[in-house]
Amino acid sequence: MIPLDFHPTGRHFLQIPGPSPVPDRILRAMSLPTIDHRGPEFGALGLKVLKGIKDVFQTKHPVIIYPASGTGAWEAALSNTLSPGDHVLMYETGHFATLWNRVATRLGLSVEFLTWPGDDAELPNAAGWRHGVQAALIEERLRQDTQHRIKAVCVVHNETSTGVTSDIPAVRRAIDAAQHPALLMVDSISGLGCADFRHDEWGVDVTVSGSQKGLMLPPGISFNAISPRALQASQQAKLPRSFFAWDEIIDMNATGYWPYTPNTNLLYGLSEALDMLQDEGLDNVFARHQRWGEGVRAAVNAWGLPIQCADPEVYSPVLTGVITPQGINADDVRRLIHERFDLSLGTGLGKAKGRMFRMGHLGDSNDLTLLAMVAGVEMGLKLSGVKLQQSGIHAAMDYFAAHPVRRVLNRAA
Ligand SMILES: *Cc1c(COP(=O)(O)O)cnc(C)c1O
Repeated sequence: MIPLDFHPTGRHFLQIPGPSPVPDRILRAMSLPTIDHRGPEFGALGLKVLKGIKDVFQTKHPVIIYPASGTGAWEAALSNTLSPGDHVLMYETGHFATLWNRVATRLGLSVEFLTWPGDDAELPNAAGWRHGVQAALIEERLRQDTQHRIKAVCVVHNETSTGVTSDIPAVRRAIDAAQHPALLMVDSISGLGCADFRHDEWGVDVTVSGSQKGLMLPPGISFNAISPRALQASQQAKLPRSFFAWDEIIDMNATGYWPYTPNTNLLYGLSEALDMLQDEGLDNVFARHQRWGEGVRAAVNAWGLPIQCADPEVYSPVLTGVITPQGINADDVRRLIHERFDLSLGTGLGKAKGRMFRMGHLGDSNDLTLLAMVAGVEMGLKLSGVKLQQSGIHAAMDYFAAHPVRRVLNRAA
């Protein structure tokens, strides 16, 4: 048992793909005194974050900020737009898609779960967990639905359980090609602020996100970005909702306030995070995560271990899933690395439990912190008896050294 007051020296390496390491700048901003959430200063803070968050979603339409984890915003997306018994089409990219399905089912929706039809030798019972959404399957299913019983298509943009992204514009094109009126709902809880995401341009109706991944905040706030069609749907939708109801929140947000007590100090943090993202420029933020992903994957490839994402086109810039050899329990490797090197890695979730671990490359990081993660993993793999082809740490160093950061001019500037 680890005593609660156990604090090893130096920084803990929090390399799970969320919560991500929080920059000191954000922690300091959050330490400001808590103010009256009905007072005049609060309205200014509220208006600032409500406006700034729209730029991150790349939308001109309302974004709701909830004092809830991402799961709450999943529920909000569904309960605001749908009615009991409505049919929704979801796509099994991994554990988070599976959990969103469970939320929908518990709310009384009728969920159809599309799954990758292929096989996989490494992960035979989770073959679909190595690929992104196949938009053609969605189009085919929607074309069969001539009665338009399907009311929403729900997909995950960055599947945090696997390290695979999905092509959201392709899903939009599939819905349009089938001339189907279903709403498009996207979970970009871990994609937002790391991978390019364009709510308006991509024709998304509701985007769900959260604070503790790409936005670099602690857990505790989540978001719904809403299209005009989704807002319209909410006027007819009959699922019960109270805390999550959009209409009352949107009304009060007009002056920077909420119908209940919002999480003031996390909003200070959000304000700081928005400044950081804006100063750097979103294009630079996305390129930075791509580069980090490349460097980490160079290490995994040198080790000779399979990357969970089987399709290089859709590698996640947020995290890399690594499959351990048969007979090596990935959770034992993780535990050893945590005990020996004070480094936390993401566990294999659901169908991937014990077969893989996840290396996060998001939040307050840089080349050297990522190299420390790679070194910790390499030592842990060797100590666990895994035969490595080559040194991953050298491959990652070589990648970072050969690829200096190139910043482009801030689009917004
Ligand atoms: C983290 C995450 C969630 C769950 O969010 P919570 O804040 O844990 O409720 C859902 N979907 C994805 C893709 C995530 O990464």
